[in-house]
Amino acid sequence: MGRPMLRIVFLGPPGAGKGTQAAELARDFRIAHLSTGDMLRSAVSERTPLGQEADAYMRAGKLVPDDLVLRILQARLGAPDARDGFILDGYPRNLAQAKELERLTPIDRVVWFDLPEDVLVERLSQRRVCPLCHTVYNLATHPPKVEGHCDKDGAELIQRSDDQPAAITTRLRVYAQLTEPLLAYYRQKGNFRSVDATGTPAEVAKRIRAALA
Ligand code: AMP
Repeated sequence: MGRPMLRIVFLGPPGAGKGTQAAELARDFRIAHLSTGDMLRSAVSERTPLGQEADAYMRAGKLVPDDLVLRILQARLGAPDARDGFILDGYPRNLAQAKELERLTPIDRVVWFDLPEDVLVERLSQRRVCPLCHTVYNLATHPPKVEGHCDKDGAELIQRSDDQPAAITTRLRVYAQLTEPLLAYYRQKGNFRSVDATGTPAEVAKRIRAALA
């Protein structure tokens, strides 16, 4: 008999730790980690037509137009690794996307990462990422073992262009205007869980597991 489907959405502000938590949990549950941000960044670095269109929006910290994101997401939702389920990280980001998602697939759990804004700014500015495997580091709380290099593959870590101060400000504004209203939308649904996303990754992981149980 197959495993029951587990289709999870992680919602919350940029810098809340969604990507870090999604990567670990997806590995554990053997389901796909579907990060629209990672998909778009890959398209940008591969210079696909879609990536070239998305690039300027991302650099500025703005949302990429819904139709582009939908196109890239749809392809991944149908991929074999998402057969037993997925954690959607970074989608939906506005009400139109939430409604689109409902048309695409049922969702079993929506987890909201709750975090105050000053902690977000601190986390975003300390963040470094591996361009190859997408592992996320924090220079203050989770630095790599060898300075500037990924623990897993040794690649040189980078700071995302949208983690620069000007783009951070835009992203938080876009979040407050477009994404935060989704809280009211999902809160009334039975599968909604809010999780305190302060503290260490291990502490947050424990709360998420409790919320999903
Ligand atoms: P993230 O890695 O989730 O912080 O996403 C990085 C950037 O990719 C965002 O600031 C947006 O420019 C773009 N992006 C990711 N997901 C979406 C989405 N669902 N809708 C629109 N733009 C997105």
